Amino acid sequence: MSEKIDNKKAQSRGKLFVASGPSGAGKSTLCNEALACFDKMSFSVSYTTRAPRAGETDGVEYCFIDQKSFNEMVDKGEFLEHAGVHGKCYGTAATDIEKLLKEGVDVLLDIDVQGAAQLMEARKDGIYIFVLPPSMDACAKRLDARGDLKEEELAARLNIARDEMKSAKDYDYVIINDRLSESFDKFKAIVTAERAKRAQVAPEVLSLFQISID
Ligand code: ADP
Ligand code: 5GP
Repeated sequence: MSEKIDNKKAQSRGKLFVASGPSGAGKSTLCNEALACFDKMSFSVSYTTRAPRAGETDGVEYCFIDQKSFNEMVDKGEFLEHAGVHGKCYGTAATDIEKLLKEGVDVLLDIDVQGAAQLMEARKDGIYIFVLPPSMDACAKRLDARGDLKEEELAARLNIARDEMKSAKDYDYVIINDRLSESFDKFKAIVTAERAKRAQVAPEVLSLFQISID
């Protein structure tokens, strides 16, 4: 009889899901829905030098830090990626991510296009999902509806957004976020398919049937 297999040892690593795309595309909305829907999925809370918006809590949407602390984290190499976005700094701390992945928890990142480009180099194991609005007009309306941008800031974001659309070609998946329910179905399908991949399920099969598969 084969040796009893330790379920914990046979556990798969978690997956790194990276949602990116222009501001106003709907990344946060889709990420929040995914977090509400899936077990064993954790959001990577970024660090930023921007001020909290009304309703945002330190440590929940972001860890809000000053420029000096951000620079210190950069110098110590604590970020997996970091970038300047709309005049402020944003970064993903490496610390918790590896721990969660090892524990079999999927980690979800909502980061800008520059940060995702850095990760594509450093983390080939990531699953890169590009979210874009159905039109520039829709993008403008969505950004405007958030109500936190001055006219010139809105115009600047739209210019950047137009440019960022070009990077869609580098991603594993692209979601044109028109009808939210359909976009979320796609997001869910991506996570579900990635979780069902052979390499991902192999440790569980091995554990269930005490066999070895390649
Ligand atoms: P991002 O995180 O990409 O900047 P958000 O998720 O904050 O974008 O979405 C920007 C705004 O657009 C929010 O007010 C959000 O409720 C709205 N929104 C997101 N997806 C859709 C959609 N499919 N249809 C209409 N409005 C949407
Ligand atoms: P906001 O300030 O509107 O919350 O976010 C502005 C942009 O910064 C969004 O496109 C968001 O995806 C991006 N962002 C948030 N966290 C990070 C991060 O850790 N790294 C990078 N590169 N971008 C981030």
